[in-house]
Amino acid sequence: MARTRGGLTRRSTKPEGTASAAGRTRLESYTIPTTTYRVGDCVLISRPNATAELPAALVARIEGIDFYSVNKVDVHVRRYYRPEETFEGAQRFHGRKEVFLSDHWQVVSVRAIEGKCTVHSLEDYMKLGNVGAADYFCRFEYAHETGAFHPNYVPVYCICEMPRNPDLPMIHCRECRHRYHLKCLGVTIEEANGLNYVCSECSSRKECVSSVTNS
Ligand SMILES: [Zn+2]
Ligand SMILES: [Zn+2]
Repeated sequence: MARTRGGLTRRSTKPEGTASAAGRTRLESYTIPTTTYRVGDCVLISRPNATAELPAALVARIEGIDFYSVNKVDVHVRRYYRPEETFEGAQRFHGRKEVFLSDHWQVVSVRAIEGKCTVHSLEDYMKLGNVGAADYFCRFEYAHETGAFHPNYVPVYCICEMPRNPDLPMIHCRECRHRYHLKCLGVTIEEANGLNYVCSECSSRKECVSSVTNS
C-alpha cells in the first residue's frame, strides 16, 4: 500500500539508478510530490537564513541526486549567487534577475526545493516577451571565496561605459549603431519612441564634415 509521509509517496518499487556505497542510489531524477526534478534543472531552494535584503529562496542547479530512503533524499546543488550576496554587492549594471553561477556546492534535502526556475543567457533573457517570476539570467561565473568574476571583461556601452543592464532601456544611434541609456541622455521612454537619435559624437563629426565642405 502506498503510504504518504511528509509529502512523499512511498514507491512500491526501488527507484532506478546506480546503486553505490552505504545504501545510496544515484538518481537522474526524482518526483516530489508531482514535479520531476532532473540533474541539470535549475531550482529555487528555501533559504534558512533569509533576511529582509535577501529573497527567501536561493537559485541553484541540480548536479546529483542521492536516494537513501523516502525520508532521506539528498540533492547536490551548485549555487547561483545574487548580486547582493557577492563581495562587491549589487552594481548599477546588474539586472534585477541576474545571478552568477558560483563554485559553491551544497547538499540539501529534496524537501528544501520550492520549485523549478529557468536561468537564461543574457541574450535569451532579453528576447523574453514577459519575464516571469521564475526567469533569471546568468552571464558571469563567481568564485565565492575570492570574489572573482569570470569573464572579467564584458562589452561596455553608452557614455557611462557600463556593461549591459537589461532593465535599463537603451536607444541606438542611427549613424554608429552604438547603444545609449535613455537615462544617461535624459530622454523618457515616450520621447524615445520614434526618435531618430544621432549621438553627440556622430553629430559633431557631421558638423566637422559640413564645415569642411562649406569652406
Ligand atoms: Zn549610460
Ligand atoms: Zn553615433
